[in-house]
Amino acid sequence: MNDCIFCKIVEGNAPSNKIYEDDNILAFLDVNPTVKGHALVIPKKHFETILDIDDETLKELIIVTKRVSKAIYDGLGLEGFSIGTNQFEIGGQVVPHLHIHIVPRNKEDGIENWPRKKYVSDDEKKEFQDKITRLLK
Ligand code: AMP
Ligand code: ZN
Repeated sequence: MNDCIFCKIVEGNAPSNKIYEDDNILAFLDVNPTVKGHALVIPKKHFETILDIDDETLKELIIVTKRVSKAIYDGLGLEGFSIGTNQFEIGGQVVPHLHIHIVPRNKEDGIENWPRKKYVSDDEKKEFQDKITRLLK
């Protein structure tokens, strides 16, 4: 039995406040919003992370994310918003069904942006560049 909460929402077996739905993608309000209007966009099919989803569905997911973002941005009269997706437990993923967060942003929301660090040297920076680049050739 699949006890994934987002699969249950897709199947209509758990409640949600849907804001968009088509054959493959669903968007609904996050039940515990970081900022009111915070929404989640998910593929209807269960994929755990972005590494699992097929490219065609991923394209649909990101296109719907843009559409829903525009509706949130215009509809709530925002000055900005953040889009993010947590991957794996250590990356902050609590629900293991791929989802994209759209978080309305405003000057008083108190949300800290990611901290920024420095590489200790150009060599260290190059080391990271090389480790990643060799897998993309
Ligand atoms: P993450 O930490 O990236 O896995 O985020 C999971 C998000 O799902 C959190 O922001 C939760 O508030 C949200 N969430 C969990 N259960 C539900 C639910 N039943 N309906 C709507 N949002 C949910
Ligand atoms: Zn699921």
